[in-house]
Formats: sequence, structure tokens, C-alpha cells
Amino acid sequence: MNLVTDVAVVGGGPSGLTAAAGLAAAGLRVLVLDREREAGGIPRHSDHTGYGLRDLRTVMTGPAYARLLANRALEAGAQVRTSAMVTGWATATGGDGMHALDVTTPEGRLRVDARAVVLATGARERPRTARMVPGDRPPGVLTTGQLQNVVHLHHGRVGTRAVVVGAELVSWSAVLTLREAGCRTVLMTSEHARAESYAAFSVPGRALLRVPVATSTRVVRIGGRDAVESVEVEDLRTGERRTVPCDTVVFTGDWVPDHELARAAGLAMDPGSRSPVVDNTLATSRPGVFAVGNLVHPVDTADVAALDGRHVVRHVLAYVTGRSGTPGSGTTGSGTGRRPGIPLRAEAPFRWVSPGLVRPGAGAPPRHRILLWPDEHRAVARVVVTQDGREIARRTLPWPVSPGRVFRVPSSLLSGADPRGGPITISLG
Ligand SMILES: Cc1cc2nc3c(=O)[nH]c(=O)nc-3n(C[C@H](O)[C@H](O)[C@H](O)COP(=O)(O)OP(=O)(O)OC[C@H]3O[C@@H](n4cnc5c(N)ncnc54)[C@H](O)[C@@H]3O)c2cc1C
Repeated sequence: MNLVTDVAVVGGGPSGLTAAAGLAAAGLRVLVLDREREAGGIPRHSDHTGYGLRDLRTVMTGPAYARLLANRALEAGAQVRTSAMVTGWATATGGDGMHALDVTTPEGRLRVDARAVVLATGARERPRTARMVPGDRPPGVLTTGQLQNVVHLHHGRVGTRAVVVGAELVSWSAVLTLREAGCRTVLMTSEHARAESYAAFSVPGRALLRVPVATSTRVVRIGGRDAVESVEVEDLRTGERRTVPCDTVVFTGDWVPDHELARAAGLAMDPGSRSPVVDNTLATSRPGVFAVGNLVHPVDTADVAALDGRHVVRHVLAYVTGRSGTPGSGTTGSGTGRRPGIPLRAEAPFRWVSPGLVRPGAGAPPRHRILLWPDEHRAVARVVVTQDGREIARRTLPWPVSPGRVFRVPSSLLSGADPRGGPITISLG
């Protein structure tokens, strides 16, 4: 079967649903495709509060937030098709600038032709296999996403003593889910010298949930044949090892974007984040293909992902209606054709920066923020921005640089860049 639409949104999480609601409200035909049985993305099975602050100016649970965003997209007139997995790109036949997607559904294969595509496929935590932790391979070793699926969607059981690997925000979400399932977290480990999540979470987390956090510590072995019996952990400062008895291990954080479709499209990719490179309009290197949410910044909170969805609406609309040029020509924003972007780079301790391209004249990036992912902690963040060997900005920001969470820099720090100059670099002074 063939379907033709103005915009295909791949992924019905917070970013995709918010983009869909805005685009449908603007009068476009919008089709959201999600491989799950229900739309909503990760928040659907993240059954605790903490969602909606920046986009909805309220706080609610993940499932309530997911339902609200899905309803908003439907009410705005978007079509939301679930159990629909986009498996690749087909050769477009519908005219210049059209994109074609191959979709697999329980009713059979579907082909979707769209004038623009918004990729909103999110990110996932790397499972144990990808982290190369040696030892036995018993069941009972999960990521947070898998844990929340078992507990919240399938009402399944986990063990009674868990070790949580990682001390990010998501790690505390895992602790809460374990507690709800009657499982005590006997240890949380972090390879960093201090827990990655905000003190606002880790301090009460340690006290109220009574979770001991071992910093500078890594899990070096999992033991147990038919079920998990223990993990062996190593103190990275002393090399000392000890065995912790447990029956459940949850690997948290360590994000990889769900980037298969982006790669299959041949989009320019960022080697640091393994995400498609986007510019300040969230356009990728292929005209008419945009990318939003955790696919481009693995990983930030749901409200930030949703606000990407809101940000991209104007740019997709301009592209599809040809207000800033002809559809398919890749023009955006300024009405004078697509100007070449300036590459934005980040130096260590940053692993990646998003957006990776600054297109002069195309407006600010979402929330007027540049997002960076640090691998090290710095209590004082002295940010230095340079271009062609010239310092264009230097500012000490009032928030620390912490691994395991996004570091935000006001995009105004780039305002002194030369639109015709070379790459811009962000570093710490
Ligand atoms: C355990 C946990 C707890 C969290 N707690 C909070 C919190 O308290 N507050 C907060 O703000 N954020 C929280 N987050 C982060 C938040 O959930 C994410 O930032 C948000 O879900 C990102 O939205 P997204 O739209 O980018 O991607 P996702 O929510 O990941 O949605 C992506 C969607 O794309 C679909 N998809 C992927 N590939 C395909 C394909 N090929 N075809 C069709 N569909 C596809 C997926 O099925 C999914 O529905 C938490 C995350 C986790 C894992």
C-alpha cells in the first residue's frame, strides 16, 4: 500500500509528537510512524513524575505526559500510526524533492511518500553485551528501559537485591522502579569521581532511598549461571576488587542514538554522538530531512526533546511550502537560498556538540542553547569560543560541567562569529 503525505514523522516520542502537533496545526498533512503499540516514546513506561517542566510548564508522570502529547498531536489533525516500523528508504517516485520510506506493519508492508521527513527516533542505553562486561550470562541483567518495560508495561517481576551501574538521572529512575517492584538497590556504581546526576537528585537519593554510591568504581564481572548471584566491582583508584551479592543488575545511561535510518539515508554523521549532524534549524545534510530530540543529543530530558519538536515546525513548514525557496532545493529560513553552514566543534573534555553546524541567517538553535556532552567534571565552567585562531567569546557559566548530563551554553556566545569564517570551536579555558 502507498501513502502520500506532506510530512512523515518517524518516532512518536515527545519530540516527534510535539513536531507533529505543530505541523498539523499549521495545516500540513502529517503522518507519525512508531514501531511500538502505543505512541509516547520512553515516558510511556517511565512511571514517575518529572516530565513537562520546560515545554508544558507543569510536572507530571511519564505515562500522563506521553498520553497528553499523543492526544495533542491527534487533536491537531496528525495521523498517528503505531506498530509501524520504518525499516529504510525507498526510491522516491512522486516528483522532485519527495522522500519515500519503507514501513513494516502487522497488516503488511507500507510505503510512505513525503515532502519532508522528521526523524525523531530517540536514543537507547547500551546493553551489557555492548559494554563488554565479562562473566556469566544469566538472565536478570537489564537496561533501565528494559527494566521499566518489564515492571510498568508487563507487570513482571525482578529480583530483590540490585546493583545499578551508572549514577545519572536515569539511574535514579531505575532505583525508583526497582523499589516499586520490591527490589532494593544494594549498590550504585559510577566510574566518575563523583555521581553524575544533579546533587538535587543524588543527595536525597542516597539519603531517602538509602542507596550507597561507589564512585571511581566499575563492574568487572557478573557471576551466576541460571540467575545473577553477584557482581565483582573494582575501585579504579586502588585496583582493589570486591564481590557484591545481588540477583539483578541494571545498566543505566551510556546512550547511543537510534541512528540506523539516518545512516541508511547517508546523512552526515557526528562521530562523537553518532547522531546525524543538524544545523540551527534542525535540518540534516539531506534537504527536506530534519532530525529532533535525543536522536541529535543523546541524551537530554523529554521537555528539551519536545521543544526541539516545537522549534522544527517553522523550518519544516518553510521548506514544505517553499516560502524560503523551492521544496527539495534545501533552502531554509532566510529566503535567499541555503547558505553554507559553519562547522561547530568541541574540544575535550566534550565528546560532542549539537547543533554541529551553524547556518548564518537561519535564526537561533532550539532554546537559544548549544548542547555539549562532557566526559569529565569541572566545578567552574570557563567557556572559550574561537574561530580561525581568534577568540570570539569567553564566559564563566554559573553551572558546573558534569559527565552524564548535557552541558548548556547560550548560543549568544557565537554571535561574534564571522559568517564567512572557518569552523568555530568551543573549549574550556
Ligand atoms: C528511565 C528513564 C527515565 C527518564 N526520566 C525522565 C524524567 O523524569 N524527566 C524527563 O524530562 N526526561 C526523562 N527521561 C528522558 C526522556 O524520556 C527522553 O528525553 C525523551 O523520551 C526523548 O524523547 P524523543 O522523542 O527524543 O525519543 P523517545 O522518547 O525515545 O521516542 C522515540 C520513538 O521513536 C520510535 N522509533 C525509533 N525507531 C523507529 C523506527 N525505525 N520506526 C518507527 N518508530 C521508531 C520509538 O518506538 C519511540 O517511541 C528519562 C529517560 C529514561 C530512559
